[in-house]
Amino acid sequence: MKLTDELKSIKGIGDKTAANFAKLHIQNVRDLLTTYPKNYLTYEEPVSIAEAKEGERVSVLAVIGTYVDTRTVRGLSLTNIGIRDASGTMKVTWFNQPFLKKTLHRGDTYVFVGVVKMRNGSKCLDHPEYYKQEKYRDMMQEWMPVYPLTKGLTNNTFVKAMKACRSVIADMEDYIPEDIRRENGLMERSEAFENIHFPMNETLLRGAIRRLALDEFYAFLYDMGRLKEDATRTANTHPVVQGKAVSEFVNSLPFALTKGQQQAIEDILADMGGDGCMNRLVQGDVGSGKTVVAEAALYAVVAAGYQGAMMVPTEVLANQHYEEFTKSLSPFGVRVALLVGSTPAKDKRHILSALAEGEIDIIIGTHALIEDRVVYHDLGLVVTDEQHRFGVKQREKLSGKGTYPHVLVMSATPIPRTLAIILYADMDISVIKELPKGRKPIKNCAVGTNYRATAYRFIREQAEAGGQIYIICPMVAESDTLDLTNVEQYTERMRSVLPPDMHVEMLHGQMKADEKAAIMDRFLAGEIQVLVSTTVIEVGINNPNATVMMVENAERFGLAQLHQLRGRVGRGKKQSYAIFVNGKESPESMERLKVLEESNDGFFIAGEDLRMRGPGDFFGIRQSGETLFEIADLYNHADMLALAQKLYQAYGERLVPPENPGSMTGTTVL
Ligand code: ADP
Ligand code: MG
Repeated sequence: MKLTDELKSIKGIGDKTAANFAKLHIQNVRDLLTTYPKNYLTYEEPVSIAEAKEGERVSVLAVIGTYVDTRTVRGLSLTNIGIRDASGTMKVTWFNQPFLKKTLHRGDTYVFVGVVKMRNGSKCLDHPEYYKQEKYRDMMQEWMPVYPLTKGLTNNTFVKAMKACRSVIADMEDYIPEDIRRENGLMERSEAFENIHFPMNETLLRGAIRRLALDEFYAFLYDMGRLKEDATRTANTHPVVQGKAVSEFVNSLPFALTKGQQQAIEDILADMGGDGCMNRLVQGDVGSGKTVVAEAALYAVVAAGYQGAMMVPTEVLANQHYEEFTKSLSPFGVRVALLVGSTPAKDKRHILSALAEGEIDIIIGTHALIEDRVVYHDLGLVVTDEQHRFGVKQREKLSGKGTYPHVLVMSATPIPRTLAIILYADMDISVIKELPKGRKPIKNCAVGTNYRATAYRFIREQAEAGGQIYIICPMVAESDTLDLTNVEQYTERMRSVLPPDMHVEMLHGQMKADEKAAIMDRFLAGEIQVLVSTTVIEVGINNPNATVMMVENAERFGLAQLHQLRGRVGRGKKQSYAIFVNGKESPESMERLKVLEESNDGFFIAGEDLRMRGPGDFFGIRQSGETLFEIADLYNHADMLALAQKLYQAYGERLVPPENPGSMTGTTVL
């Protein structure tokens, strides 16, 4: 077997399972092996029943104290037992496992593993795993990988498939020779794959993560290196001579630019009027007003007679920019168009031909912009959002559509200067330090779930006062393993809590693009008061009238991501509020969330999150919302990034990283 083999060649995987894997974009052995666990379960020392806390996954060593009772209720077979230890009792229930009556007996002792629930005042375990004591002792030595799942695909299937590919792992070659590995304390690549999927212990797992993080960074730098060579060779093929155009546009804005915005625009105009091709990054915290800088740059290019393209990570955001740009630029005769995945075929054809003919000046879109059939008349500037910054291949592809267009990248990722210098080695950087005048700092609170009732009253008051509210939930539909608040249920809940004349709607990634667009339009138009959403709205959405951001299960997000989320409010003149609900009864997660109360500064937040990370957080919670790196995290693995740079500088083209799809995906379009 080899990396490029189809999944079906793995023993035990048939058409149906292969189709389920395909839903996760896993088509061949390589895809499978580069799908890393998102977590690991360990089997802990059992606790006593008295110590078992509601909502926690626990192991209890207990004896079956009752007869095993199996009955059928509405077609569902229920097996009930009572278990006890010296400290107390618990009720245990299994569904549709009538055969348990034969295997389990009163007086037997097992270790039961499950999530504790409270029902009618007693502690219960539903559908727990159960093991004989000796077996459990062995399991305590193991780490159980937990893979991203989809309907019809169990973790067990994943594990089995991985196991079947162990020989491929063993045969993997390493592009980093042994002496270099030894010198830098790096694990061998095949050993890293072995240990990421089947970790023997914590030390090996850490070693594996570091090694794979290094590989991702290295592959990134390697690709960047090639891009850079291209860039240095290019003279300015699209000189933009500064006339009055940009200042007219700037004067037409309903506000005065901040110093940082002005400087960024000046930098851009100097680049585009200079000898070489522009390759510039504009870095500015959420809400600092990067969009208008991009708009000014695009307009300058159009006024000079070229076309401009702006690629953003989501359709929702593309729609929003399209509307803004149309409004502010059409008075200047600029023709703006939108191209996204869901654009109807007929319109697409029309747009594509207009683009090729030069009848469109600025095109805004998602990935759709880099499809092969998109041809430009004369593309002078490509603007991408930070998410794409990392998808080097994608950027290359879009840039390749013009003869060396200028490149402008917008980023809100608060990365420390030392890292920025490595990651953005090929770029000039403009930083927007200040927020627009007149913004009131967001008021923040991190609270427990018992605060919800108060929060709902507050939301109601805010809505009555004309404000709008975002509520973020981590998942879409109810999952049987995780008891997370989800968008659908939450929407219902809000409808019942709020008066009927307040409109509550939901937004999530599984909705159709036009449904999403319709909801966003109504939200922006003020027709919807409360928008319950997944993190689809994390990126870039701008509704200056929104005043409350409430995040449920906030403990499940990285602080940087929470900072991005709260950046959706506080964008207008009104006082805005962010409410972070800690869904877990844990002081540590609360302490982490409290950092958000202390500051509204993205750099500070990122630094604190790193500082507070305990040694037990392998993956931690991924800092940034970027999807470029599968495993590597800019903050956690800053040392690996530095090492990757060192190796690349020392050996460069001599160490050729294997194709690393993980580092190339760049984005997910929600
Ligand atoms: P981000 O940097 O997060 O992309 P946006 O570009 O979306 O921020 O801008 C956020 C909001 O601030 C928008 O409503 C925009 O119109 C407004 N804005 C931008 N620049 C200024 C400014 N100089 N003064 C006042 N409001 C501004
Ligand atoms: Mg933005």
